[in-house]
Amino acid sequence: MGLRTALPPAVSMSKKCTNCRLVNRSSAVRCERCDGELIGPTGQKTSRRSTGQTVLLRAAICAAVCVAVILGFYFSLVISAKPLDIEQKYTVRQAIRVLRDKGFQTEAMLLENFTVYRSNDNWLNASVPKENAFAATNFPFEIMTLYSDFFTYPEDDVERAAILLHEAKHLQGKDEPEAYEFVWKNRETLGWTREKYRASPVWTNIRRQTREVVPHLFVCGEDHLGDCTE
Ligand SMILES: [Zn+2]
Repeated sequence: MGLRTALPPAVSMSKKCTNCRLVNRSSAVRCERCDGELIGPTGQKTSRRSTGQTVLLRAAICAAVCVAVILGFYFSLVISAKPLDIEQKYTVRQAIRVLRDKGFQTEAMLLENFTVYRSNDNWLNASVPKENAFAATNFPFEIMTLYSDFFTYPEDDVERAAILLHEAKHLQGKDEPEAYEFVWKNRETLGWTREKYRASPVWTNIRRQTREVVPHLFVCGEDHLGDCTE
């Protein structure tokens, strides 16, 4: 009674140490005597994963968690704002068509096939100051919010195309100066000219913002205040 005896050997002492040959309990992971590796009843090593397998498994779990978090974040942005109505969708398509017709194929493709449009702020946009009243883009989620001003102030599809072209640059990961500079330098190609649009509030607004954000485009002429792209 005083001696601690093991359970019947056939049932529990089924693992042999590869080092000292001691028979260990079936639940043992290392040899009780010498800490050596154990082999099971069928002669196979106990089923401990190798370090490489463990690292791989942990990396896979980590990647899966990251993907789940990113997807959750993305869907929270999408569902926390309203989609465009049919008329608004049509208006956007017309503006994209202008871009394609004028040779901005990459931007048009991005805007048409890889962008989710919303008509009001998602929770993230609502928590940060707005860049302008027309649109906002969440990069790299390719979500674009088009505010009511986008549908009311522009004179036509060309002006809406100019706004979308700016936002398309953000969809490509470009920052504010790059987006303003690209549109300003390409306004002639787009057909968005001073002659035709100088009275438009969109023209006036975007010209002022471009001057503020990309001042080096406005240092030409005798007074060094002129537009260098003209
Ligand atoms: Zn911008």
